[in-house]
Amino acid sequence: MRPHRAYSPGLTGVLSLRESHHLLEVLRAKVGDRFTVFDAEREALAEVVDLGPPVRYRILEERRPEREVGVEVVLYPALLKGDKLADVVRMATELGATRIQPLITRHAVPKAMGEGKLKRLQAIAVEAAKQSGRLRVPEVLPPIPLREVPEVAQGLVAHVGARALVREVLNLGKPLALAVGPEGGFAEEEVELLRERGFTPVTLGRRILRAETAALTLLALCTAGEGR
Ligand code: SAM
Repeated sequence: MRPHRAYSPGLTGVLSLRESHHLLEVLRAKVGDRFTVFDAEREALAEVVDLGPPVRYRILEERRPEREVGVEVVLYPALLKGDKLADVVRMATELGATRIQPLITRHAVPKAMGEGKLKRLQAIAVEAAKQSGRLRVPEVLPPIPLREVPEVAQGLVAHVGARALVREVLNLGKPLALAVGPEGGFAEEEVELLRERGFTPVTLGRRILRAETAALTLLALCTAGEGR
């Protein structure tokens, strides 16, 4: 069987039906095949002992790889049209976000998110965590109005026209909150409110980026660009 990582909360020895289906139907697993299981805290090499379904496994060896940034990284993306938030969730998970809290903002077209869409975004986070070797799956939360963003220890808000560079203000010794606006941008009062809650406006360069590109760029500068 080709290498595979299965999400198995609690490493209980039994896979969910969704994970079992992938192992059996896509990877054609057989008894004795080895794969990796992980949850929010642990990762282990496992061996299939019963095809079920559900597939049962036994743990051969535990591992503790370091794949996290080392501080909490909360991304606050504005709600976006269509399926663009799916790309944001996937990329944010790969880049080490620990929580994704969508925002309802003045100029965003969508003003709510259905239960089905939220579940799909959460499933995308699980898949992206698996693919990127992370143990921790970021929480994807239902949207809140921007005024409910709490005060933060350290925040950066991507804002067209801001002057500060990420590397001038970033401190990876403190939890980090990152905000990115919708297609129509943040209203000035929204940037002001975020500033009052501890966010520093930063530039992402001279060009106007799409909101998804901006989220990716801001996160990448804070995590991947710092070797984290
Ligand atoms: N006309 C909008 C404006 O002026 O804000 C453009 C919005 S842009 C398509 C979507 C979001 O991406 C912005 O709200 C901002 O958070 C981020 N963004 C895009 N380009 C940026 C840049 N060069 N510097 C900082 N943030 C940027």
